[in-house]
Amino acid sequence: MGRAKNEQAESPSGRTQEQTEEGGAWHEMAMERVLWSGEDIKKRVSELAEQITRDFSGKSLAVVGVATGAVIFVADLVREIQIPVTLDFVRMKSYGNSTTSSGKATCIADISIDVKDKHVLLVEDIIDTGITVSTLVAHFGVKEVASFSVCTLLDKPSRRIIPVQLIPGGKFYRGFECPDEFVVGYGLDYAELYRNVPYIGVLKSHVYS
Ligand code: 5GP
Repeated sequence: MGRAKNEQAESPSGRTQEQTEEGGAWHEMAMERVLWSGEDIKKRVSELAEQITRDFSGKSLAVVGVATGAVIFVADLVREIQIPVTLDFVRMKSYGNSTTSSGKATCIADISIDVKDKHVLLVEDIIDTGITVSTLVAHFGVKEVASFSVCTLLDKPSRRIIPVQLIPGGKFYRGFECPDEFVVGYGLDYAELYRNVPYIGVLKSHVYS
């Protein structure tokens, strides 16, 4: 979920135009380095979708994205999955006003589709401490689902406080293992910005000051 800065964050260039005068995209000067390019992500999303299609073929699959961070990932993923799916979202609040976890996650908006006896696939942008996912495992555990699986684009296992414990029968998919750094782009934000960056990267330190 998004974390708010004390004041309203500006674009790194302080400009509102799509392009800088030098011709680069607005986000390039804020980025320290790119970890995964748009092409890297596209390729990995296709691979994940292929695996999911195979695993859930002939089953009733309910994809549930965790808003807002997973919105872009889930939009790309469902269009690559080659079986019928339903799509809904939960909204979680997990961070206060910094880039570190508040240690608590709360579901502030639930799905509206009935998932009883469905195979639920939760789609996350990133698993960090594991608090959000473990809260959602418990949340879906009481909905009498046929199975509960998790697909996360990024996984930061070095930061884990709570291991991802799936309901028996559930599967775990992950796109990339992420180093212990705060990343933005492709849905992931800092102070609600950078979600529309088409790659995933690390911001320059001055952006946080
Ligand atoms: P967890 O509950 O596993 O600690 O955190 C999950 C949520 O924290 C993610 O859905 C995401 O919103 C946020 N988060 C964790 N690490 C990062 C990161 O490196 N960058 C961004 N933008 N958000 C993160």
